[in-house]
Amino acid sequence: MLQLSGVDAYYGPSQVLHNISLEVSKGEIVCLLGANAAGKTTTMKTIFGLLRPRSGSIMFEGQKIERKLTGNIVGSGLALVPEARRIFPRMTVLENLEMGAYSRRSRAEIKQDLEHVYQIFPRIQERRKQVAGTMSGGEQQMLAMGRALMSRPRMICMDEPSMGLSPLLVETVFETIVRIRDEGMTIFLVEQNASMALSLADRGYVLQTGKIVLSDTADNLLKNDLVRQAYLGGA
Ligand code: ATP
Repeated sequence: MLQLSGVDAYYGPSQVLHNISLEVSKGEIVCLLGANAAGKTTTMKTIFGLLRPRSGSIMFEGQKIERKLTGNIVGSGLALVPEARRIFPRMTVLENLEMGAYSRRSRAEIKQDLEHVYQIFPRIQERRKQVAGTMSGGEQQMLAMGRALMSRPRMICMDEPSMGLSPLLVETVFETIVRIRDEGMTIFLVEQNASMALSLADRGYVLQTGKIVLSDTADNLLKNDLVRQAYLGGA
């Protein structure tokens, strides 16, 4: 469904992604693990046209997207839940959700999807009139996920959804990810929280200083020595 082949990306003269190749098939949860500054967010930015790869290709459902504008990429069915849950803090919860559907026309379908988001996140429905920036971190994360769902995507990319959340909330967020997948969504998850990510993913990749150094099933990665030492606290 999503395929990166030989992607190189730079910030000015410094190369941050080196020959990244990875793929996500329909119905999978695939995670990209890596320490601080490994290039996880840069990989996301490159997929969404926020940074142009210098070389390599990015395909979504058989179409090349590496030269497309971000809005067109989202319009083609790929949604992003950005790092640090970049919601619109001064807008209400409902306005944030409506922004997620900005490229869509059918009011009836938008209303239907809003009901669906409320069903997944009852808390968001309770708070729909609240100014989004005043919600707790966990609520904002749910709103960011809900907003992504409002573009009616076929695949969602999430940048560190567990960041800054309490263990209990991390669990809630991850349960929601599994639920969305069970409803038919394909999910690409970028995470520092390796044990949680691998507990729900089908497969994973490990990124170190901009290079993919490992690719395997989640079960095998959980058993892998490098992963255990570097990302699972040697457990
Ligand atoms: P984290 O988990 O800390 O967010 P990450 O794996 O997402 O890390 P990136 O944000 O992709 O890492 O950063 C990869 C490297 O690129 C880092 O060395 C970072 O300093 C550098 N970098 C990121 N954004 C820019 C930028 N706009 N200009 C120059 N260098 C950048």
